[in-house]
Amino acid sequence: GGLGVTDKLITCLMVEELCWGDAGIAIHIVASGLCAKAIEAMGTPEQNKRWLTPFCNPNNDAKMPHIGAFCLTEPGAGSNVTGMSTIARRDGKDWVLSGTKQFITNGGIADTYAVIAQTNPEAKTTSERVQGLAGFVVQKGAKGLTAGNDLIKWGVLATNTTEVHLDNVRIPAENKLGSDTTGGMMGVVATLEASRVMVASAALGIARAAHETAVAYAKTRVQKKPIIEFQAVGHKLADLETHIQAARGLVWKAAWMASNNVPFTRGEGSQAKLYCGEVAVQSCLDAIQIHGGYGFMKEYDCGRWLLDAIIFRIWEGTAEIQRNTIVRYLSQGGDGE
Ligand SMILES: Cc1cc2nc3c(=O)[nH]c(=O)nc-3n(C[C@H](O)[C@H](O)[C@H](O)COP(=O)(O)OP(=O)(O)OC[C@H]3O[C@@H](n4cnc5c(N)ncnc54)[C@H](O)[C@@H]3O)c2cc1C
Repeated sequence: GGLGVTDKLITCLMVEELCWGDAGIAIHIVASGLCAKAIEAMGTPEQNKRWLTPFCNPNNDAKMPHIGAFCLTEPGAGSNVTGMSTIARRDGKDWVLSGTKQFITNGGIADTYAVIAQTNPEAKTTSERVQGLAGFVVQKGAKGLTAGNDLIKWGVLATNTTEVHLDNVRIPAENKLGSDTTGGMMGVVATLEASRVMVASAALGIARAAHETAVAYAKTRVQKKPIIEFQAVGHKLADLETHIQAARGLVWKAAWMASNNVPFTRGEGSQAKLYCGEVAVQSCLDAIQIHGGYGFMKEYDCGRWLLDAIIFRIWEGTAEIQRNTIVRYLSQGGDGE
């Protein structure tokens, strides 16, 4: 969506290119898409029209497109989403939200917040807790909505990351996303599955930046002869070239499936995100090694890219959670090719 781009493969190409130089700036540009995706995945057509339009600014008027934040993670509930303690309580025609969200990208600067909360505080079993999750739209300026300080991070420095506090935030009933069958946990899963492919392509952009820089350096750095001619260096580059091409294959396949409404049968989105995250980190480590002492200097970008790459093994589901997801597909069938 936005600017007429509807194909996920094209989105992935754009994100890969943006992340080639500075993943922080790229993520700042695309992070609102996660909030928009959550609304799209959980909302009714009427809600989508109302809440998504401001992200796209289709009338090209003077107003800035909305910035969005997706609020899922909490201080005590990261990978274990159903353990969240943010509560949504029905009060007459309104919903009242209370809780704290952690590590929220755009938390301090968003216009629109897609907040996941538990509507059944009595839920005891996992199944009851899953059933009780729901998505809500909260707008900037809502009474009781505040953000903490911009957290100090090692990487993706251009992004804004804060706690988001919801202190009895009262919102009208129509801000609860979806009907009982389209909202909730299924919406969370759909949001993350869809966004993982884009996140994977972001990691791929970092991997490529480090690899291309390493190849160029190895061709020009001479220690008796250009270091690319030493097998130990050349093989590193050959391995990385192969891993990057394989990673791109996973991204493009998952993006094509998502664009053509072909359901994932083997956790293809998770495969892409898992592999691209690992390749990005390895690519940066190898680039530092190939640059020798210069790679350890801030004058060169490889170290900065490494710190950016590491977050791709953590956010939107850690590498371990991606593996859990892939094996869950396999244990439930996963032979759909
Ligand atoms: C810069 C940044 C931006 C972020 N932006 C957002 C955002 O916009 N919105 C949002 O909602 N969240 C956001 N997050 C949160 C991010 O998605 C979480 O940090 C991530 O999901 C992990 O949760 P956690 O940090 O609580 O780690 P934990 O869940 O506590 O995990 C700690 C370790 O235990 C492992 N582990 C946990 N459970 C399992 C399991 N079942 N099986 C195997 N291993 C397991 C993990 O893999 C990890 O290695 C952001 C985080 C960062 C750092």
